[in-house]
Amino acid sequence: MEKYVRDKIKELKSYQVNKVPYTIKLDANEGIDWNEGLNRYPDDSAEELIGKLGKWLNKPTEQLVIGNGSSELIELTLKTFLDPDECVVSLDPTFSMYQVFTTIYNGRYAGFKLNDDFEFDTDEFIKFIEEEKPKIVLLSNPNNPTGKSIPYSEIIKIVKTSDAIVVLDEAYIEFGGESLIDVIDQYDNLIILRTFSKAFGLAGIRLGYMVSNESVIGYIKRVKSPYNVNQVTQANGIKALDNMPQIKRNIALIKEERSWLYQELLKLDILPVDSTANFILFKYEKPVAKYLLDEGIQIRKFSGKLDNYYRITVGTKEENQVVIQKLKECIK
Ligand code: PMP
Repeated sequence: MEKYVRDKIKELKSYQVNKVPYTIKLDANEGIDWNEGLNRYPDDSAEELIGKLGKWLNKPTEQLVIGNGSSELIELTLKTFLDPDECVVSLDPTFSMYQVFTTIYNGRYAGFKLNDDFEFDTDEFIKFIEEEKPKIVLLSNPNNPTGKSIPYSEIIKIVKTSDAIVVLDEAYIEFGGESLIDVIDQYDNLIILRTFSKAFGLAGIRLGYMVSNESVIGYIKRVKSPYNVNQVTQANGIKALDNMPQIKRNIALIKEERSWLYQELLKLDILPVDSTANFILFKYEKPVAKYLLDEGIQIRKFSGKLDNYYRITVGTKEENQVVIQKLKECIK
């Protein structure tokens, strides 16, 4: 995997944080405590959180690194591997930040167009990769904003055949689709990104993690800022991992509600895209978002190539009922 890393990064050493027992700590220019220990920098190695994460995922801690949201990890991946003018291949449509980050790092972005059903032919996609010769293939699986997933065997085919780093952004994987986390050790060029923002219901703490081989994780650690994940976030991440039954109940609830919403949208003669995530994309010619917004309800409206498409996040039972009721009123 060394061959993918930018030359400048290979020469870097990671920021060393002193971690020895102490009674008086005067080595890091910290201030005086007035608020429950927040005067101290957080644990840079996030030992407790990463330890729990490793146990939960059944992965050694050397194969994990955490970030300030998975957004930071997407960015760190580009920082580590992408030289100016090198190509990032992804899908069209997909999560818009992939293109934004690629542009910021002076890369060239190539989006493979999905068909009208938001699916693709794997062999065609592999051909696209051969033509574009990307350094990084970045796939949101399930895909935002379509909610569709690429089947396991197809992703394996992509990983095996492409001479690029394949980043699988599994931000929504707890809601559907098949993860490649169990085969991460079999492929040198595979990175998986996950987040606490969706299934864990903790978007407010900004916490994401990367799973890959030790070598990739080592390079990401060299590139990341010291103390990138704060104390409060680490503590809440630990709390979530100690409350997995609650998280699992929430995931089950969202999946149930997703089916209900899907069926209700069908009844309204709206054609929703069958989703494996915690949102549903649908097309409608009337300006429903404007109507809903006047009622105080926010849904996502797209423009450009996705003109007349809307994405609605699966909410609580009560929220979903209100939204469907208001949609009915709007459509009438
Ligand atoms: N990846 C995808 C596919 C997303 O949709 C999002 C959030 N919308 C993210 C990553 C970013 O998540 P985080 O909150 O972990 O930065």
